[in-house]
Amino acid sequence: DISATDVRGYKGHNMLAPFTAGWHTTDLEPLVIQKSEGSYVYDVNGKKYLDALAGLWCTSLGGNEPRLVAAATKQLNELPFYHSFWNRSTKPSLDLAKELLDLFTANKMAKAFFTNSGSEANDTQVKLVWYYNNALGRPDKKKFIARTKSYHGSTLISASLSGLPALHQQFDLPAPFVLHTDCPHYWRFHQPGETEEEFSTRLANNLENLILKEGPETIAAFIAEPVMGAGGVIPPPATYFEKVQAVLKKYDILVIADEVICGFGRLGTMFGCDKYNIKPDLVSVAKALSSGYMPIGAVLVSPEVSDVIYSQSNKLGTFSHGFTYSGHPVSCAVALETLKIYKERNIVEQVNRISPKFQEGLKVFSDSPIIGEIRGTGLLHGTEFTDNKSPNDPFPPEWGIGAYFGAQCEKHGVLVRVAGDNIMMSPPYTFSLEEIDELIIKYGKALKDTENRVEE
Ligand code: PLP
Repeated sequence: DISATDVRGYKGHNMLAPFTAGWHTTDLEPLVIQKSEGSYVYDVNGKKYLDALAGLWCTSLGGNEPRLVAAATKQLNELPFYHSFWNRSTKPSLDLAKELLDLFTANKMAKAFFTNSGSEANDTQVKLVWYYNNALGRPDKKKFIARTKSYHGSTLISASLSGLPALHQQFDLPAPFVLHTDCPHYWRFHQPGETEEEFSTRLANNLENLILKEGPETIAAFIAEPVMGAGGVIPPPATYFEKVQAVLKKYDILVIADEVICGFGRLGTMFGCDKYNIKPDLVSVAKALSSGYMPIGAVLVSPEVSDVIYSQSNKLGTFSHGFTYSGHPVSCAVALETLKIYKERNIVEQVNRISPKFQEGLKVFSDSPIIGEIRGTGLLHGTEFTDNKSPNDPFPPEWGIGAYFGAQCEKHGVLVRVAGDNIMMSPPYTFSLEEIDELIIKYGKALKDTENRVEE
């Protein structure tokens, strides 16, 4: 029996556990993290771990950036809170909006709306798009198309947009206005002899067929992560976004880029949209916006959309939406300092300096008999365990191969993300080349342990 039920923290591991603070799927002790230092975190027993997931894909500047602590402290002393309702605001929130709009250059953006999380940002997107279409007098253009295996959040609407069955089962989701189209995972879903470009063409055709079947006048927007994150780190195949965007344009369907993981340098470009030439109408950001030090997310809105909302002819009245902590001054002050550090340290260059070693060092393990695919780009990595190197030969789930590997990583002092037989990593941008070496050596040890266990 290879199941990992004997390993602390991984018994009965399921998708939802990591997203549910204080809610554990195991009767074993949780791993309690007490402090962080650079690329490492320490548990309550003093054991040190390389934080290969940057907390939860977010602590881009590592564990103890003093400037972020200082920015939070200064703001707490000056003005710990004021809201952003009814034309009131605070300086950090106005300054951050301006910075964000300047930083995002893949398409012009005119307005920023602040949330506390990525989920709230994506919920906000749905309301904005509905309001926009209502203002244009086309209330039936309401449906959203997302993709299988995507992750957009945990609230009812963002979980609906997500394409992971575990987020739908038991909750009567997805909501009826959400449709899902193909996951663009070439290795898993391409047909024999099909090139990446041909695969992308087929997926764009499938998308167009779905739009035509539903009626283009009913489809409001398409939402996508530039690289799928929690679904297993799945970069798009060649020409995918080009072809998909051509279809969406043809039917006047808005493009929403979910940059919650990809944004702020992770892929070696400031945004995922820059890397894949995505021209979104709306953008969601969170996580690395504040290096995870304070909860904050945002929605960026193009002038085309905001002009309709703000136009004199719009008779709908206020866009009645907002959270108490939208534009929280302390979160905004920390985010402003984070963006300043990204600029000063040229974070995109930094990611491009270390990511080749990270990608190439891990690619070496592709030959392992238990690995189906190793994939990734920038500082995002996915490993998928399968038998016979085939996407069609999963290991029996009760073997818990992914969970076992994750537990071995933990034993060797590395924290990774486990979802079934998928392993994911997104290290902080502060990783040194030596820390990448250390990560690769420890990954290799955990892999050897896992291979041995499979052979037993
Ligand atoms: N969108 C993407 C792409 C994400 O990866 C996540 C979280 O992992 C979210 C949205 C939801 O963000 P949050 O957990 O801050 O609500």
